[in-house]
Amino acid sequence: MISLTDAFESGSKLCSFCAQEKITLAEAMIRREIARGEMTREEILEEMKKNLLVMRESVRSGLEDYIESVSHLSGGAAMRLFRYAKYDPFCGSNTCRVAASAMAVVEVNASMGQIVAAPTAGASGILPGVLLECGIERNWTDEQLIQGLFCAGAVGLLFAENATISGADGGCQAETGVGSAMAAAALVELSGGTPEDALNAAAMTIKNILGLVCDPVAGLVECPCIKRNALGAANALLCADMTLCGINSLIPFDEVVATMLTVGRDMRKEYRETAMGGLAVTPTGKQIAEKVKHFQEIERRNETF
Ligand code: SF4
Repeated sequence: MISLTDAFESGSKLCSFCAQEKITLAEAMIRREIARGEMTREEILEEMKKNLLVMRESVRSGLEDYIESVSHLSGGAAMRLFRYAKYDPFCGSNTCRVAASAMAVVEVNASMGQIVAAPTAGASGILPGVLLECGIERNWTDEQLIQGLFCAGAVGLLFAENATISGADGGCQAETGVGSAMAAAALVELSGGTPEDALNAAAMTIKNILGLVCDPVAGLVECPCIKRNALGAANALLCADMTLCGINSLIPFDEVVATMLTVGRDMRKEYRETAMGGLAVTPTGKQIAEKVKHFQEIERRNETF
Protein backbone atom coordinates (compact mmCIF):
# COMPACT_ATOMS: atom_id res chain seq x y z
CA MET A 1 0.00 0.00 0.00
CA ILE A 2 1.28 3.47 -0.87
CA SER A 3 0.16 6.39 1.28
CA LEU A 4 -0.78 9.79 -0.10
CA THR A 5 2.21 11.23 1.75
CA ASP A 6 4.63 8.95 -0.11
CA ALA A 7 2.86 9.07 -3.48
CA PHE A 8 4.66 12.14 -4.80
CA GLU A 9 8.12 10.75 -4.08
CA SER A 10 8.34 9.52 -7.69
CA GLY A 11 6.31 9.12 -10.84
CA SER A 12 6.16 5.36 -10.46
CA LYS A 13 4.89 5.64 -6.87
CA LEU A 14 2.30 8.17 -7.94
CA CYS A 15 1.09 5.87 -10.74
CA SER A 16 0.88 2.94 -8.30
CA PHE A 17 -1.04 5.12 -5.84
CA CYS A 18 -3.47 6.17 -8.59
CA ALA A 19 -3.95 2.51 -9.62
CA GLN A 20 -4.48 1.46 -6.00
CA GLU A 21 -7.09 4.20 -5.48
CA LYS A 22 -8.45 3.96 -9.05
CA ILE A 23 -8.04 7.71 -9.52
CA THR A 24 -6.47 10.14 -11.98
CA LEU A 25 -3.35 12.26 -11.43
CA ALA A 26 -5.68 15.25 -11.04
CA GLU A 27 -7.60 13.55 -8.24
CA ALA A 28 -4.35 12.56 -6.50
CA MET A 29 -3.30 16.20 -6.57
CA ILE A 30 -6.64 17.36 -5.18
CA ARG A 31 -6.42 14.80 -2.35
CA ARG A 32 -2.90 15.98 -1.56
CA GLU A 33 -4.13 19.56 -1.28
CA ILE A 34 -7.02 18.48 0.95
CA ALA A 35 -4.57 16.55 3.17
CA ARG A 36 -2.64 19.76 3.83
CA GLY A 37 -5.69 20.69 5.89
CA GLU A 38 -5.95 24.32 4.85
CA MET A 39 -8.94 24.12 2.51
CA THR A 40 -11.93 21.95 1.71
CA ARG A 41 -12.29 20.25 -1.69
CA GLU A 42 -14.77 22.93 -2.78
CA GLU A 43 -12.39 25.73 -1.80
CA ILE A 44 -9.49 24.05 -3.60
CA LEU A 45 -11.54 23.69 -6.79
CA GLU A 46 -12.65 27.31 -6.47
CA GLU A 47 -9.03 28.48 -6.12
CA MET A 48 -8.05 26.58 -9.25
CA LYS A 49 -11.00 28.12 -11.08
CA LYS A 50 -9.59 31.54 -10.19
CA ASN A 51 -6.26 30.47 -11.73
CA LEU A 52 -8.07 29.33 -14.85
CA LEU A 53 -9.79 32.70 -15.17
CA VAL A 54 -6.49 34.57 -14.79
CA MET A 55 -4.95 32.30 -17.44
CA ARG A 56 -7.86 32.92 -19.81
CA GLU A 57 -7.63 36.68 -19.35
CA SER A 58 -3.86 36.69 -19.91
CA VAL A 59 -4.27 34.76 -23.17
CA ARG A 60 -7.07 37.07 -24.29
CA SER A 61 -5.15 40.20 -23.42
CA GLY A 62 -1.98 39.04 -25.18
CA LEU A 63 -3.92 38.18 -28.32
CA GLU A 64 -6.32 41.12 -28.46
CA ASP A 65 -4.70 44.15 -26.79
CA TYR A 66 -1.53 45.56 -28.21
CA ILE A 67 1.01 44.60 -25.55
CA GLU A 68 4.45 46.13 -25.33
CA SER A 69 6.94 45.09 -22.69
CA VAL A 70 8.19 47.54 -20.10
CA SER A 71 11.64 47.39 -21.75
CA HIS A 72 10.09 47.91 -25.23
CA LEU A 73 11.97 44.82 -26.42
CA SER A 74 8.93 42.71 -27.16
CA GLY A 75 5.23 42.86 -27.89
CA GLY A 76 2.71 42.04 -30.57
CA ALA A 77 4.28 38.75 -31.69
CA ALA A 78 1.51 36.61 -30.22
CA MET A 79 -1.17 38.64 -31.97
CA ARG A 80 0.72 38.40 -35.26
CA LEU A 81 1.14 34.61 -35.09
CA PHE A 82 -2.50 34.12 -34.08
CA ARG A 83 -3.69 36.07 -37.13
CA TYR A 84 -1.27 34.20 -39.39
CA ALA A 85 -2.77 30.89 -38.21
CA LYS A 86 -5.59 31.42 -40.73
CA TYR A 87 -3.20 31.36 -43.68
CA ASP A 88 -2.32 27.68 -44.01
CA PRO A 89 0.74 27.65 -41.73
CA PHE A 90 3.27 24.82 -42.08
CA CYS A 91 2.67 23.60 -38.53
CA GLY A 92 -1.12 23.65 -38.91
CA SER A 93 -3.64 26.21 -37.70
CA ASN A 94 -4.21 24.61 -34.31
CA THR A 95 -0.52 24.41 -33.43
CA CYS A 96 -0.07 27.98 -34.59
CA ARG A 97 -2.94 29.23 -32.42
CA VAL A 98 -1.72 27.23 -29.41
CA ALA A 99 1.81 28.61 -29.80
CA ALA A 100 0.46 32.16 -30.21
CA SER A 101 -1.65 31.77 -27.07
CA ALA A 102 1.41 30.59 -25.14
CA MET A 103 3.41 33.60 -26.34
CA ALA A 104 0.52 35.91 -25.43
CA VAL A 105 0.83 35.09 -21.73
CA VAL A 106 4.57 35.70 -21.57
CA GLU A 107 4.10 39.01 -23.40
CA VAL A 108 1.56 39.96 -20.75
CA ASN A 109 4.10 38.97 -18.09
CA ALA A 110 6.73 41.18 -19.73
CA SER A 111 4.30 44.10 -19.63
CA MET A 112 3.78 43.53 -15.87
CA GLY A 113 0.31 42.07 -16.41
CA GLN A 114 -1.15 39.30 -14.27
CA ILE A 115 -0.26 35.70 -15.09
CA VAL A 116 -0.19 32.35 -13.30
CA ALA A 117 3.28 30.84 -12.93
CA ALA A 118 3.26 27.40 -14.57
CA PRO A 119 5.68 26.42 -13.17
CA THR A 120 7.42 29.84 -13.37
CA ALA A 121 6.66 33.24 -14.89
CA GLY A 122 9.13 32.56 -17.72
CA ALA A 123 7.26 29.40 -18.67
CA SER A 124 3.81 30.72 -17.81
CA GLY A 125 2.41 30.58 -21.35
CA ILE A 126 2.67 26.91 -22.25
CA LEU A 127 0.03 25.41 -19.98
CA PRO A 128 -2.70 28.03 -20.56
CA GLY A 129 -1.90 28.27 -24.28
CA VAL A 130 -2.19 24.52 -24.75
CA LEU A 131 -5.15 23.84 -22.48
CA LEU A 132 -7.31 26.81 -23.38
CA GLU A 133 -6.82 26.59 -27.14
CA CYS A 134 -7.25 22.80 -27.22
CA GLY A 135 -10.23 23.26 -24.91
CA ILE A 136 -11.89 25.49 -27.48
CA GLU A 137 -11.19 22.92 -30.23
CA ARG A 138 -12.52 20.02 -28.14
CA ASN A 139 -15.36 21.83 -26.34
CA TRP A 140 -13.87 21.07 -22.91
CA THR A 141 -15.81 22.57 -20.02
CA ASP A 142 -14.18 24.68 -17.32
CA GLU A 143 -14.59 21.70 -14.97
CA GLN A 144 -12.54 19.57 -17.37
CA LEU A 145 -9.94 22.30 -17.76
CA ILE A 146 -9.67 22.55 -13.97
CA GLN A 147 -9.01 18.80 -13.82
CA GLY A 148 -6.33 19.35 -16.47
CA LEU A 149 -4.73 22.02 -14.29
CA PHE A 150 -4.63 19.67 -11.29
CA CYS A 151 -3.05 16.97 -13.44
CA ALA A 152 -0.48 19.50 -14.64
CA GLY A 153 0.07 20.51 -11.02
CA ALA A 154 0.81 16.91 -10.06
CA VAL A 155 3.45 16.66 -12.79
CA GLY A 156 4.97 20.01 -11.84
CA LEU A 157 5.15 18.87 -8.23
CA LEU A 158 6.99 15.68 -9.21
CA PHE A 159 9.65 17.80 -10.92
CA ALA A 160 9.81 20.25 -8.02
CA GLU A 161 10.20 17.46 -5.46
CA ASN A 162 12.59 15.27 -7.45
CA ALA A 163 14.53 17.71 -9.63
CA THR A 164 14.04 21.45 -10.11
CA ILE A 165 11.70 23.95 -11.73
CA SER A 166 14.13 26.83 -11.63
CA GLY A 167 16.15 28.19 -14.54
CA ALA A 168 18.76 29.38 -12.05
CA ASP A 169 19.16 25.81 -10.91
CA GLY A 170 18.61 23.69 -14.01
CA GLY A 171 18.49 25.94 -17.08
CA CYS A 172 15.49 26.49 -19.35
CA GLN A 173 14.81 22.74 -19.53
CA ALA A 174 13.58 23.13 -15.94
CA GLU A 175 11.22 25.99 -16.81
CA THR A 176 9.83 25.70 -20.33
CA GLY A 177 10.63 21.98 -20.29
CA VAL A 178 8.58 21.36 -17.17
CA GLY A 179 5.81 23.69 -18.42
CA SER A 180 5.67 21.60 -21.57
CA ALA A 181 5.64 18.34 -19.59
CA MET A 182 2.77 19.63 -17.44
CA ALA A 183 0.74 20.62 -20.49
CA ALA A 184 1.37 17.34 -22.35
CA ALA A 185 0.32 15.28 -19.33
CA ALA A 186 -2.86 17.33 -18.93
CA LEU A 187 -3.81 16.81 -22.59
CA VAL A 188 -3.29 13.07 -22.28
CA GLU A 189 -5.29 12.73 -19.06
CA LEU A 190 -8.12 14.88 -20.43
CA SER A 191 -8.17 12.61 -23.49
CA GLY A 192 -8.70 9.52 -21.35
CA GLY A 193 -5.08 8.44 -20.93
CA THR A 194 -3.89 6.69 -17.76
CA PRO A 195 -1.48 8.28 -15.26
CA GLU A 196 1.31 6.20 -16.89
CA ASP A 197 0.33 7.62 -20.29
CA ALA A 198 0.37 11.17 -18.93
CA LEU A 199 3.85 10.71 -17.46
CA ASN A 200 5.01 9.06 -20.68
CA ALA A 201 4.09 12.25 -22.56
CA ALA A 202 5.80 14.34 -19.88
CA ALA A 203 8.97 12.26 -20.18
CA MET A 204 9.08 12.75 -23.94
CA THR A 205 8.76 16.54 -23.70
CA ILE A 206 11.78 16.74 -21.40
CA LYS A 207 13.82 14.35 -23.54
CA ASN A 208 13.16 16.66 -26.50
CA ILE A 209 14.66 19.72 -24.87
CA LEU A 210 17.11 18.15 -22.42
CA GLY A 211 20.04 20.48 -21.85
CA LEU A 212 18.27 23.68 -22.91
CA VAL A 213 20.13 26.57 -21.29
CA CYS A 214 18.72 29.65 -19.57
CA ASP A 215 20.24 32.70 -21.27
CA PRO A 216 17.85 35.66 -21.06
CA VAL A 217 19.04 38.69 -23.00
CA ALA A 218 19.62 41.63 -20.65
CA GLY A 219 18.41 39.38 -17.85
CA LEU A 220 14.80 40.01 -18.88
CA VAL A 221 12.15 37.32 -19.27
CA GLU A 222 11.56 38.17 -22.92
CA CYS A 223 14.20 36.92 -25.34
CA PRO A 224 14.35 33.94 -25.85
CA CYS A 225 11.63 33.16 -23.29
CA ILE A 226 8.57 34.25 -25.29
CA LYS A 227 9.42 32.13 -28.33
CA ARG A 228 10.53 29.22 -26.16
CA ASN A 229 6.99 29.13 -24.79
CA ALA A 230 5.76 28.73 -28.38
CA LEU A 231 8.16 25.82 -28.83
CA GLY A 232 7.18 24.33 -25.48
CA ALA A 233 3.52 24.42 -26.50
CA ALA A 234 4.20 22.67 -29.81
CA ASN A 235 6.37 20.11 -28.00
CA ALA A 236 3.47 19.38 -25.62
CA LEU A 237 1.01 18.82 -28.47
CA LEU A 238 3.34 16.47 -30.29
CA CYS A 239 4.24 14.43 -27.20
CA ALA A 240 0.58 14.13 -26.24
CA ASP A 241 -0.25 12.88 -29.73
CA MET A 242 2.70 10.47 -29.79
CA THR A 243 1.53 9.03 -26.48
CA LEU A 244 -2.11 8.80 -27.51
CA CYS A 245 -1.18 6.85 -30.65
CA GLY A 246 0.77 4.37 -28.52
CA ILE A 247 4.39 5.54 -28.79
CA ASN A 248 6.37 4.92 -25.60
CA SER A 249 9.30 6.79 -24.12
CA LEU A 250 12.15 4.29 -23.99
CA ILE A 251 13.53 6.03 -20.90
CA PRO A 252 10.95 6.05 -18.06
CA PHE A 253 9.67 9.28 -16.53
CA ASP A 254 11.59 9.02 -13.24
CA GLU A 255 14.89 8.43 -15.03
CA VAL A 256 14.22 11.41 -17.29
CA VAL A 257 13.53 13.60 -14.23
CA ALA A 258 16.77 12.47 -12.57
CA THR A 259 18.69 13.06 -15.80
CA MET A 260 17.27 16.56 -16.13
CA LEU A 261 18.55 17.39 -12.66
CA THR A 262 22.00 15.94 -13.39
CA VAL A 263 22.27 17.83 -16.67
CA GLY A 264 21.09 21.04 -14.98
CA ARG A 265 23.66 20.71 -12.21
CA ASP A 266 26.37 20.08 -14.82
CA MET A 267 25.58 23.36 -16.57
CA ARG A 268 28.06 26.14 -15.96
CA LYS A 269 26.60 29.10 -14.10
CA GLU A 270 26.73 31.10 -17.37
CA TYR A 271 23.81 28.99 -18.58
CA ARG A 272 21.65 29.24 -15.48
CA GLU A 273 19.81 32.57 -15.56
CA THR A 274 22.87 34.74 -15.01
CA ALA A 275 22.64 36.36 -18.47
CA MET A 276 26.39 35.64 -18.75
CA GLY A 277 26.21 33.03 -21.52
CA GLY A 278 24.37 31.84 -24.60
CA LEU A 279 22.21 34.37 -26.45
CA ALA A 280 22.73 36.95 -23.70
CA VAL A 281 26.38 37.40 -24.67
CA THR A 282 26.01 37.53 -28.45
CA PRO A 283 27.05 40.93 -29.89
CA THR A 284 23.38 41.84 -30.30
CA GLY A 285 22.48 40.50 -26.86
CA LYS A 286 25.18 42.67 -25.28
CA GLN A 287 24.07 45.77 -27.23
CA ILE A 288 20.50 45.26 -26.06
CA ALA A 289 21.68 44.82 -22.48
CA GLU A 290 23.59 48.13 -22.70
CA LYS A 291 20.53 49.95 -24.08
CA VAL A 292 18.27 48.48 -21.41
CA LYS A 293 20.75 49.53 -18.72
CA HIS A 294 20.83 53.05 -20.17
CA PHE A 295 17.01 53.37 -20.20
CA GLN A 296 16.75 51.97 -16.69
CA GLU A 297 19.26 54.57 -15.52
CA ILE A 298 17.23 57.39 -17.13
CA GLU A 299 14.03 56.06 -15.53
CA ARG A 300 15.74 55.91 -12.14
CA ARG A 301 16.88 59.51 -12.49
CA ASN A 302 13.37 60.65 -13.55
CA GLU A 303 11.93 58.93 -10.50
CA THR A 304 14.42 60.77 -8.27
CA PHE A 305 13.30 64.16 -9.62
S1 SF4 B 1 15.46 31.39 -20.84
FE1 SF4 B 1 15.58 31.36 -18.59
S2 SF4 B 1 14.25 33.04 -17.92
FE2 SF4 B 1 13.70 32.54 -20.04
S3 SF4 B 1 12.02 31.03 -19.89
FE3 SF4 B 1 13.94 29.89 -20.09
S4 SF4 B 1 14.51 29.51 -17.96
FE4 SF4 B 1 13.01 31.14 -17.88
